[in-house]
Amino acid sequence: MILLDQIQKELAVLDSKSLRRRRRHAESPSAPRVKVDGRDMLAFCSNDYLGLAAHPKIIAAMQEGADLYGVGSGASHLISGHSHAHAVLEERLAEFVAPHLVNAKALYFCTGYMANLAVLAGLAAVSGKETELFSESLNHASLIDGAKLSRAKLHVYPHGDVATLRNLLQASSAPTKIVVSDSVFSMDGNLAPVPELLALCEEFNAWLVIDDAHGFGALGDYGRGVFEHFDLRSPNLVYMGTLGKSAGVGGAFVAAHADVIEWLVNKARPYIYTTAAPPALAHALLTSLDIIQGEEGRARRAHLQALIAQLRRDLKLKRWTLMPSDTAVQPIVIGDNAESLKAAASLYEQGFWVPAIRPPTVPEGTARLRITLSAAHTAEDLALLIDAVNGLEE
Ligand code: PMP
Repeated sequence: MILLDQIQKELAVLDSKSLRRRRRHAESPSAPRVKVDGRDMLAFCSNDYLGLAAHPKIIAAMQEGADLYGVGSGASHLISGHSHAHAVLEERLAEFVAPHLVNAKALYFCTGYMANLAVLAGLAAVSGKETELFSESLNHASLIDGAKLSRAKLHVYPHGDVATLRNLLQASSAPTKIVVSDSVFSMDGNLAPVPELLALCEEFNAWLVIDDAHGFGALGDYGRGVFEHFDLRSPNLVYMGTLGKSAGVGGAFVAAHADVIEWLVNKARPYIYTTAAPPALAHALLTSLDIIQGEEGRARRAHLQALIAQLRRDLKLKRWTLMPSDTAVQPIVIGDNAESLKAAASLYEQGFWVPAIRPPTVPEGTARLRITLSAAHTAEDLALLIDAVNGLEE
């Protein structure tokens, strides 16, 4: 019982700091009217930015995929789990991001978390412990964990601080240098200075690994993400895009020069030693890509932009702060953990599902409501939320 006592004590500590995390049960698609624990809610918390997670054509494609391939892949990719659906998806993804890379190939992963572990550990394996990794301070947890797994020498540079990064790169004589950053910061919504990062990487002969989890599908005219947004192309780029957010399905991919991908297939343990994702997911993602690239995707991105503008125009905060962000991630910083929980609970009571994000996901003293917008919201849905939030501080 002593072991359990320890855990119970630590859980009580979390409670005392308003830091205990709880899960709710969604009982329908998040589209964005969702049944949660038996209640009808309007959700502003999913990363389904284009509203594709319950798209009838993608649902039909997933069902077709299950008919074609069954429900499980049965093994890891290097044994027998690599299906035709995975291979076709990788070709399509490589073609999609090809304008921004040189001799691009893509590799599909079960999750973005695993893709990030794989890409950092895999690239670092080229020079082993002599590798140096330069990581932005607000990077996603999966990049932080990937950096640990890589065993490279780690430098963390302050948020958006290109000058400090330059000094660090200049001082490094490592044979393999890797700069890694989120493109859209997941809890803040702002963009990294990717063109400046790339210029530094080209100057100092470093890889630039960009996690575009929140940009893929949502940014760029054709939804190609942050590289399209900034019009970038370079052999130094390594791209990670997730497919469970704007693409509406699940999994992730890494795209880079064909030889980098070949190296990851051979060396990246989070790719090698896990069962391949169900091929039906890959099959469904082909339809998702068609939609993202086509007219419908463009219309959905335009509607999302209109919603972002509406929120920023009509939200009137007094003590709290709407963070500067032009993306679908629109956080309101409240500061105190308990006050953030109270605000989220009050919105929940009124039928709005908006999560309170607390440390360690965000720095101490910056607890916040994280509103995420989706092309599936109507302007009327958003007006209801804005009224409710404006009423919270009275
Ligand atoms: N990177 C970022 C920036 C993310 O926000 C997330 C997911 N929240 C991931 C990676 C992990 O992706 P996945 O959910 O597919 O594991």
